Amino acid sequence: MTIFEKSVSGRKGYSLPDEALHDSSPLSKIPEHLLRKKAVELPENSEVDIVRHYTELSRKNYSVDNGFYPLGSCTMKYNPRLNEEMASLEGFSYLHPYQPTESIQGALEVMYELQRMLAEITGMDAFTLQPAAGAHGELTGMLIVRKYFELMGEDQRKKVIVPDSAHGTNPASAKMAGFDVVEIASNPSGLIDLGNLKAALDETVAAIMLTNPNTLGLFEKDILEISKLAHDNGTLLYYDGANLNAIMGHVRPGDMGFDIVHLNLHKTFSTPHGMGGPGSGPVGVKEKLKGLLPAPLVALNDDGYYLDYDLPDSIGKVRSFYGNFGVLLKAYAYIRMLGKNGLKFASEMAVLNANYLRVKLSKLIPPSHPGICKHEFVLDGSVLVKEFGVKTLDLAKRLLDYGLHPPTIYFPLIVHEALMIEPTETESKDNLDRFAEVIEKILEEARDNPETLKNAPYSTPVRRLNETMASRKPIMRWKAEK
Ligand SMILES: *Cc1c(COP(=O)(O)O)cnc(C)c1O
Repeated sequence: MTIFEKSVSGRKGYSLPDEALHDSSPLSKIPEHLLRKKAVELPENSEVDIVRHYTELSRKNYSVDNGFYPLGSCTMKYNPRLNEEMASLEGFSYLHPYQPTESIQGALEVMYELQRMLAEITGMDAFTLQPAAGAHGELTGMLIVRKYFELMGEDQRKKVIVPDSAHGTNPASAKMAGFDVVEIASNPSGLIDLGNLKAALDETVAAIMLTNPNTLGLFEKDILEISKLAHDNGTLLYYDGANLNAIMGHVRPGDMGFDIVHLNLHKTFSTPHGMGGPGSGPVGVKEKLKGLLPAPLVALNDDGYYLDYDLPDSIGKVRSFYGNFGVLLKAYAYIRMLGKNGLKFASEMAVLNANYLRVKLSKLIPPSHPGICKHEFVLDGSVLVKEFGVKTLDLAKRLLDYGLHPPTIYFPLIVHEALMIEPTETESKDNLDRFAEVIEKILEEARDNPETLKNAPYSTPVRRLNETMASRKPIMRWKAEK
C-alpha cells in the first residue's frame, strides 16, 4: 500500500499557529496569480502513520546492514560509519560549489590529497575525480583514448579489444565513445588467450580494456607480456579498476603497464552502493595523457590550492562541478584511517575469505575454473540442472528464504549457470560457514524435493517476479484513481 492509499481526508501530521493563516501573515502577501487554483494532491496522514509506513518499507529492504551480501563483481562490503560522519561534517556539507577558492581551501586540500593518494595506490601520474560511476570513468577513459589518437594523427585506430569475460559496461563504454568493439575468447583457464590477442592486434586497435583480477576472480599472470604486446603495437592499455579490492597495496596497475585506470570508490573505498546512490569513478592516467583529463584538476602553488583549468588538450568536462564530493570525502577518510598497511590487509582478507569459501563450496558445486582465486570466484551451477533438475536461479531464490542475499547469477556470460561469489573482507568466518551450511541444506532440498526450490521464495514481500517485464516495462509511479 502506498502512503497515498493510506490517506484519510482531514488527517494531519502537523499543526500551524493560527496567525499563520491570518490576514497579516506573510502568506496573505503572495500575489494572487502565484497561488494555486486547486489544492495539491498530497496524502493526509498522521505523524505516526508516516513513521510506521516508512519503517515498514525499510524493513522489506535488504542491505549490507541486514546481512551477508556476496554479490560477485559488486563488492558489497560493510563501510565504516565513521566515514559517513566525516562526510557529513558541516564544514564540508554546507559548502557551495560556486564559493571562491580562498574560502574552500580545506575541501580542495582533501581533493588534492585524494588525487595523489589514488595515484600512489594505482601507480599512475594524475587523477580526475569528476566521473560519477565506474561506467562513467570508462567512458571518460575511452574519450581520452580517442582524443590521444586524434592528436597523434592516427585516425585509423577505431577498435577496442575486450575479452569475453569483461563486465558489460566495458564494450558499452567503448562503443559510446565511437569505437568498434572486438571481443576475444578467453582460454580454458579463464585468462586472456595470448594467441587470440596477437591475432586481433593490428594498427587499427586503439586500446585493450582489461580488469585484473578478471571477472572470474583470476589474476592475469601474463599481464606484463600483454602490456608489451599492446605498447609495441602503439595501443593503449585500459584498466577497469572495479576489482582493485583484490590487490590494493600488493600490485599496481601502473606497474603492470596500464596507461589509464578507473576506480570504483563506491566499491573499494567505503561508499555504500546499490539502489542508484551516488558513486564515484575517478580516472587516473600516465604522464603523457595528463593534459587530456577533464578540466579542472585540483593543484597547489605558493598561494594555496586552486582549480587548474590549464589543460589545453582536455576532453572537456564530464560532470558538473568537481564530482560527487561526499563520496570523495569518504574515500579520503577511509584511506587515511587504514593507511598503507591497512589497505593491504583489507585486500588480503578479501582474498582469504574468497578462497576459504571457494574451498568449502567447491565440495558441493564445482568451480568454473581451477586454481586459487583473488577476491571472488565462480561456480558452475550446471551440475544442479543435471543432478536435480533445478537451475542456479532456483538456488538463488531459495537463499532468500534463509535471509541471505544471493550471489550474482548468470554472469560472467562465458560460464553456463554461473554463480559468482564475492564474500568481501568484512565478513567473519562464522558468516562464511553459515552461508556454506545454507547452500548445503538447499542442495539437500534439491535432491529430496526439487519443487521446494522451483517455487521459492516463500517468505519475501513478493514471490517470483516476471524479470523481463520488470526490466523492460517497470512501473515506476503510482497514479491516483480519479
Ligand atoms: C561494477 C563494475 C563496473 C561498473 O561500475 P558502475 O559504477 O556500476 O558503473 C565496471 N567493471 C567492473 C568489473 C565492475 O565490477
